[in-house]
Amino acid sequence: MAEKTTGEILKENLFLKKENGWLNTNCEEEIMSFAEGYIAFLNKAKTEREFIKEAKKLLIENGFQDLEKVGTLNKGDKVFYINKNKSLFASIIGEKPLKEGMQLVGAHVDSPRLDLRPNPLYENTDMAYFKTRYYGGIKKYQWTCIPLSLHGVFTKVDGEVIEVNIGENDNDPIFTISDLLPHLAKKQEKKTLADGIEGEDLNILIGSKPFKDSKVSEKVKLNILNILNKKYGITEKDFISAELELVPAFKAKSLGFDSSMVAAYGQDDKVCAYTSLKALLNVCNNKTATVVLADKEEIGSMGNTGMSSEVFEYYVNELLNKLNQNDYNMVNTVLCHSKMLSADVTAAYDPNFTDVFEKHNDAYLSKGVSINKYTGGNGKSGASDANAEFISYVRGVLEKNNITYQMTDMGKIGAGGGGTIAYILANRGMEVIDLGIPVLSMHSPYEITSKFDIYMAYLTYKTFYEG
Ligand code: MN
Ligand code: MN
Repeated sequence: MAEKTTGEILKENLFLKKENGWLNTNCEEEIMSFAEGYIAFLNKAKTEREFIKEAKKLLIENGFQDLEKVGTLNKGDKVFYINKNKSLFASIIGEKPLKEGMQLVGAHVDSPRLDLRPNPLYENTDMAYFKTRYYGGIKKYQWTCIPLSLHGVFTKVDGEVIEVNIGENDNDPIFTISDLLPHLAKKQEKKTLADGIEGEDLNILIGSKPFKDSKVSEKVKLNILNILNKKYGITEKDFISAELELVPAFKAKSLGFDSSMVAAYGQDDKVCAYTSLKALLNVCNNKTATVVLADKEEIGSMGNTGMSSEVFEYYVNELLNKLNQNDYNMVNTVLCHSKMLSADVTAAYDPNFTDVFEKHNDAYLSKGVSINKYTGGNGKSGASDANAEFISYVRGVLEKNNITYQMTDMGKIGAGGGGTIAYILANRGMEVIDLGIPVLSMHSPYEITSKFDIYMAYLTYKTFYEG
């Protein structure tokens, strides 16, 4: 072999390498089997309620207890707190007192989707429909002509909660939104992509068979209500206190001849939620390790299940009380001394759309977890801009453990922008940085991730919890 030239040696030592992670990994088996577990979990947990329900099962299986049922806490104890069935916090109590800070990983479990409106059901020309209002940022045209499943709950006045899940089992019917045939779409095709299908066009086709009775009108609607009444014991009035969501009925699957990727609905941000939850299950920690699975991120993190709510402070207070470590101002002390990875996805560079990406700074599939120092818009507006000192700490954790990562930004300046829950915790004094997984077709009904990156995220979160 020829000796390396001075230039080659220099380049090797001085350049930042950004290599495809598959080239140098010796854990292909672990990567593939971890992804199997992820795919199976996703197929059971398409909505925030379902994710929290499955997460609770996993936590209990791994020795976690409901914080509300625990009197006192000691180091090594594992607890969780479920907030209104839509968000949760879970911790493993560390050796060190809480005032020295926690090691947190926070993801969100809500994803863009179509919600039913309060008065959803109507009939038009012998067909029955649901009116929807979309939740989160979607490209509306992507939601037509695909199979949709209905998930959620009816809650009756007497407190009974009736779970709904139709369209996931092979024997279930599915629902869909019709689009115009190309033959008659001359005018529609001249519209912009954003206007081709409008919000009010997102009406779900749910039936076409009339109830056989010549004396009644709206026979198809009546037939649907009769079916729902028999199945769930509900009437039209019960839609008032329902929360029903339509999500793509596609199954999560391996993608590509090499099965190197995952295609699935809702990977933003269930891919980070799953990896951060799995990572917590078996950590050996010095400091208290906590996973945050938040709701409502896609619509601004508001409300009592969103990250902006003070339920998180309540949780920290409860930990302090039960550890007998609470004192004046103690919650603030804990928050200010804590470190957090905001585990959320970022846009992966898409060679089909080069004009919106900045190839030197964007994230690439299979180059490891992506760290975003800041999110926000053009001039970093609205961003939590992580501190260099904290980034060096995170880098240290990753490099010491040979975890493949990339330091990234999102898109060209002027192309758009986005946000995560990072700023909310940063506002409370924590050191926070976004660290997640690159995604292709983000916010679409079928998002794409790399199995290599998923496994790297799992390793990252596990190592980070351990401090
Ligand atoms: Mn997200
Ligand atoms: Mn999102």
